[in-house]
Amino acid sequence: MKRIAIIGGGISGLAAAFALEKSPRDGTPLEYALYESSPRLGGVLVTEHVDDCLVEAGPDSFLTEKPWATDLCRELGLEDQLIGSNDPDRKTYILVKGELVEIPDGLMFMVPTKILPTVLSPLFSARTKIRMAEEWFHPPRKADGDESVASMVERHYGAEMVDRLADPLLSGVYGGEASRLSVRAVLPRFAEMEAKYGSLGRAMLAARGKMPRSANGPRPLFTSLKDGMQQLVDALVSRLTPSALQTNAPVQSVQLQNGGWLVSAGYASDQFDAIILATPAQIAAGMIQTASPQLAFELCRIDYTSSITINLAYDRSVRSALPPGFGFLVPRSEGRRMLAATFVHNKFPHRAPLDRALLRCFIGGANSEEVLGFGDDQILGIVRDELRQIIGLTADPLFVRVHRWKSAMAQYGVGHLERLQRIENLLVGLPGLALAGNGYRGIGVPDCIRSGRDAAAKALAAVGLAEAATSTRA
Ligand SMILES: Cc1cc2nc3c(=O)[nH]c(=O)nc-3n(C[C@H](O)[C@H](O)[C@H](O)COP(=O)(O)OP(=O)(O)OC[C@H]3O[C@@H](n4cnc5c(N)ncnc54)[C@H](O)[C@@H]3O)c2cc1C
Repeated sequence: MKRIAIIGGGISGLAAAFALEKSPRDGTPLEYALYESSPRLGGVLVTEHVDDCLVEAGPDSFLTEKPWATDLCRELGLEDQLIGSNDPDRKTYILVKGELVEIPDGLMFMVPTKILPTVLSPLFSARTKIRMAEEWFHPPRKADGDESVASMVERHYGAEMVDRLADPLLSGVYGGEASRLSVRAVLPRFAEMEAKYGSLGRAMLAARGKMPRSANGPRPLFTSLKDGMQQLVDALVSRLTPSALQTNAPVQSVQLQNGGWLVSAGYASDQFDAIILATPAQIAAGMIQTASPQLAFELCRIDYTSSITINLAYDRSVRSALPPGFGFLVPRSEGRRMLAATFVHNKFPHRAPLDRALLRCFIGGANSEEVLGFGDDQILGIVRDELRQIIGLTADPLFVRVHRWKSAMAQYGVGHLERLQRIENLLVGLPGLALAGNGYRGIGVPDCIRSGRDAAAKALAAVGLAEAATSTRA
């Protein structure tokens, strides 16, 4: 009997468990155990149903372009439950000097691909528009080392583009700052495009020309599930062996012993042939400290930020008074606590009845860890005050839900890929150990699913089920 332990029951750990569950074992008996410290599985994927509204406490969707989440949903029989974002209504605003300004059409991340909407947009000053025109002639740059996203964007388009677009867009995804995040880890395609074309604008147009056209028209930017992200967790859990799932089981340490791994959780220890650490990297560092202080050192240096989501429901009058579109982003220079707000009722169907508005606001991110210690009333006070100032919203909400996510968002700092290489090298000396989670090669749900699946393949290979692992990957 081969035994594999998975530590962490978020989407990464659950994806790993599912890959083990369905792996062909060539007659070799395989047993796995999943340890989760909290009373529930799913990690930051949490959906609540409140007053006919669907409230997402953590992620609300995933990028359609990254296939691993959609593929998993299909495998789980959830294909008919997938829903796309209402892209015909997709408009996003940026707060500029207290006013909401629409992001112009044709802007791909921060790269303009349509001239007229960009030239006419009040989002940028004349100086930045001139920089955009000059960017077309940007010479190719040898990919010689990493830099921050801010530094790359500033070289191409100037500081205003960093402040008004790159930074708010990244704080929406990572809760991080463009000046700290690694361009090679966070925007690898941009680094490649710059090396080949020089101009990001020219590169983006060339890439768009090569994209296959779908017979069914463009795919939605975001995909979710009719019943929310929890539906994915529930479907996964229903396919796992119930006796393998241990909740309220925080693991303290993992130690190499007799050619395998000893997992200590509470007063109990158990021996495994391979283990998958699927917790945030800094927690994994604590567990592995004795077995490999060097690996713990590297894992510990992957930073995380915290965030708070505040869902607020309103009545029909608010819904009709809100601007159209998906919501707004708030640049740091505006001096607010709020990072972004989503108009949930516009972004996806099945989220709120037609006579309700549902708003999802975010606060937190880099340099704002103290908000995590604020009480719900204080947080609500901040959010309502800022909603009043930004969109003139003074009505009392019908209900409010506040969710805190401490150290949940990994920050890929400059040099992250080099750190990952050092981690890979250290793992060679730690047979049977695999890592999964949002601390490594992608923070979004699809990347986490891929990381769990790949870690399962590695663990299977380590216990001598390599062929099975390969066919699982295929
Ligand atoms: C507010 C928010 C909004 C987001 N929005 C999106 C979005 O819209 N789209 C998108 O693609 N991504 C989004 N993300 C990112 C994405 O959801 C996460 O990166 C991903 O879900 C992380 O999954 P994970 O399994 O790696 O980690 P987690 O979900 O953090 O799971 C780790 C698990 O390990 C457990 N654990 C910790 N310590 C121990 C221990 N000692 N022993 C046992 N278990 C332990 C934890 O309890 C937890 O359940 C969002 C994240 C947040 C926080």
